[in-house]
Amino acid sequence: MGRKVLLIEDEPEIQLLVKVGLEPFGYTVVIAEDGDKGLATALADDIDAVLIDLMVPRMHGYEVIQRLRADSRTRSLPVIVISAKTFASDQRKALDLGADAFVQKPFEPQEVHELLTSLFWRTRVTFWGVRGSIAAPGPETVRYGGNTPCVTIEHGEHMLILDAGTGLRRLGIDLARRGLAHEMHMLISHTHWDHIQGFPFFVPAYAAGNKLRIYGPRTIDKPLDRVLRGQMDPEYFPVALGDMEADIEVTELRGDPIDIGPFHITYAYMNHPGVTLGYRIEVGGRVITYATDTEPYRYLLKQQRPDQDGEEYGRKRDEHLVALAQDADLYIADSQYAPKDYETKLGWGHTCYLDAVDVGVDAGVKCLALFSHDPMHDDAAIDDKLEQSQARVQERGAEVKVVAATEGAHIIVE
Ligand SMILES: [Zn+2]
Repeated sequence: MGRKVLLIEDEPEIQLLVKVGLEPFGYTVVIAEDGDKGLATALADDIDAVLIDLMVPRMHGYEVIQRLRADSRTRSLPVIVISAKTFASDQRKALDLGADAFVQKPFEPQEVHELLTSLFWRTRVTFWGVRGSIAAPGPETVRYGGNTPCVTIEHGEHMLILDAGTGLRRLGIDLARRGLAHEMHMLISHTHWDHIQGFPFFVPAYAAGNKLRIYGPRTIDKPLDRVLRGQMDPEYFPVALGDMEADIEVTELRGDPIDIGPFHITYAYMNHPGVTLGYRIEVGGRVITYATDTEPYRYLLKQQRPDQDGEEYGRKRDEHLVALAQDADLYIADSQYAPKDYETKLGWGHTCYLDAVDVGVDAGVKCLALFSHDPMHDDAAIDDKLEQSQARVQERGAEVKVVAATEGAHIIVE
């Protein structure tokens, strides 16, 4: 199925030109004849890109762009302005408000197609679940989200799924609806419940003809596919993994880098109970590091081996994580605890957000996404975590952009 493009335009001739001109390239064109309807459609529907005229009735194009950029669902949607206005100030204004490109009317559909293609080939990260340990839905977590880890990285037509926490359920519905479930690749960090519990509810796994390739660490005494099957034993779940109709193949990672389409993937062990991997993913000249569920060695070893200079040894071990995140464009990091939580949770296998910031600064990352939010933290606590983390970056005299991972939000990796 092709990409769905929303055209916000009241001129019938342009509506016709875009429809007739883009459909041969495989797009579905949806038309809204005023700004109000356009905005509502973009927010409610599964739109892949927006083409918008500036002077549309009911809501000016500028305001539509502004509102699209203010909403996490449409923040990184490709938006192209098509306008007869030739003033440089108008063009600049549209781009300042967040439009990706400006096309002068009259235009050839080919020109729009080429622009759309270049915008679709950006690398886009989407958060489907951001919560650590256990799903924590409810009014107090509604802004950042309550589902457990699941993240996608899209590069053009290619997608990588990271972890299968409860956020995977909604991703499955989305993939099935967009017709994008034919071939899927999923990396699992480890098999604690919060990272695999969405799997039995992953709709595309039940459809014959779909291919699902799962990669992850070999667990201590059972192969990975047995662990995944284990949570679907009849005592726990009514359908067995073997009954899922998709062609599912599980590969255990044993140290060698892997290439999946345009993604080049290396990985390292995390300091977490059991066997856990953190991933470094290179794609399109960009680097994304996904390292969740890990704890700094130095605090643990300081406590365990005070006489042997455990802290110093721990510091050396902690450099592994810095290496995994080195110069990453986006570092998605375990930052479950506030400093106060960590006082009583030493040895639980997670990281305090200030330490996550330090790794990001030491590794020289461009953007740090605070991830694996504690189920006990409400939205206000995560606001505070974000603020404190940004302050830490300032204190360190660094220039790392810090965001708090938010369910449903996208990040374009520039
Ligand atoms: Zn875990």
